[in-house]
Amino acid sequence: MEGPYYVNNQPLILYQWELDFELDKEELSIVPLWVKFPGLPVSYWSVEALSKVVSAVGRPIHTDMFTANAERISYARILIEVDVSQPLTEQIVIETPSRPWDQPVEYEWRPKYCNECLKFGHNDVDRGNN
Ligand SMILES: [Zn+2]
Repeated sequence: MEGPYYVNNQPLILYQWELDFELDKEELSIVPLWVKFPGLPVSYWSVEALSKVVSAVGRPIHTDMFTANAERISYARILIEVDVSQPLTEQIVIETPSRPWDQPVEYEWRPKYCNECLKFGHNDVDRGNN
């Protein structure tokens, strides 16, 4: 409930045990990341609107208290499960009544993930340097 945990700056991910649990590539590349949406229009400061925006990035796990409590907000900060084997979403285009809004997506930390080795610790492009 308090995760994600970090050990020596490496993410430690705890899964609920299930009888049919299998370690496969898809599950192991899904990581909880803190994501910010700087400058998000005030009209999107509701749980419903925010969850629509967030779903473009991944599955939301936790919304920062300062975000949920609509006071003194400078940004939305949300913990989102992201599949890092795919390129991270850098920007979301939100359709507003007046015009489309280009919403930047900021990651507090980006894990290095290699699609060749299916491991964390280095990117595909770093191969050969490790
Ligand atoms: Zn590799």
